[in-house]
Amino acid sequence: MSLQGKTAIITGSNSGIGLGVAHALAGAGADVVLNSFTDNPEDHKLAEDMAAEHGVTVRYIKADMSKGDECRMLVEKSGACDILVNNAGIQHVAPVDEFPVEKWDAIIAINMSSAFHTTAAALPMMRKAGWGRVINIASAHGLTASPYKSAYVTAKHGVVGMTKTVALETAKEPITANAICPGYVLTPLVEDQIPDTAKKYDMTEEEAKEKVILERQPSKEFATVEQIGGTAVFLCSASADQITGTTISVDGGWTAL
Ligand code: NAD
Repeated sequence: MSLQGKTAIITGSNSGIGLGVAHALAGAGADVVLNSFTDNPEDHKLAEDMAAEHGVTVRYIKADMSKGDECRMLVEKSGACDILVNNAGIQHVAPVDEFPVEKWDAIIAINMSSAFHTTAAALPMMRKAGWGRVINIASAHGLTASPYKSAYVTAKHGVVGMTKTVALETAKEPITANAICPGYVLTPLVEDQIPDTAKKYDMTEEEAKEKVILERQPSKEFATVEQIGGTAVFLCSASADQITGTTISVDGGWTAL
């Protein structure tokens, strides 16, 4: 399948899952817009390297997904948006009665409201182009909960709800909206937690991964950014034309429990 001629915007894509999805879409021939809130030489180098590797156009556009106007500006500045991947996300863990208000506000803004703003800006472009894909990177936490993750679980459930609404509003058009719900994926975000978890439970890092981090993932294996990327590419294929308003779990069986 070729996505040649399509432009994909992936929010929060200078690391982890976003970067993996960007690579997969570029590998399938799409031109790519990478994004984060930083504007470092390494960010632009990522774009250069990806363009050279896949032979597509790759731009890096700085925009802070905690700010609605910057979310909309990202889409406008991209000039086209056939594939929108709402991926930017952060985490904070604390009991609900101790949850810092500024962390709650930031998680709701970055993990949920950004997808509202980018989708609102992108739909007119998709309609004009006569084709579109909205792919929201939600989470197993968009379908289930864990203690101490109130803001994250709220935001991810919200994203799943928004996905369904956008799908209904575009149901008669050649546009689909779906959410990918990963279980644990070994990104820098998760890798950083392993040494501390091992120390806390007096375990080796391997034991901490299997017994603590992957406790809820029956496969006892991390999902990979390549698998999330492959799922996104599938959602852009003609085979997925009638897949809309749903969630696809890539979670090693987590939500089957
Ligand atoms: P990550 O920290 O590697 O990537 C997060 C990305 O978001 C980074 O590129 C970061 O720069 C960007 N970002 C953060 N704040 C931003 C802001 N204000 N504006 C723009 N960009 C911003 O983490 P990841 O694991 O790759 O997470 C990516 C997405 O996948 C998140 O939405 C996360 O909730 C989701 N997810 C991750 C896992 C996992 O196990 N890693 C599981 C389920 C869902």
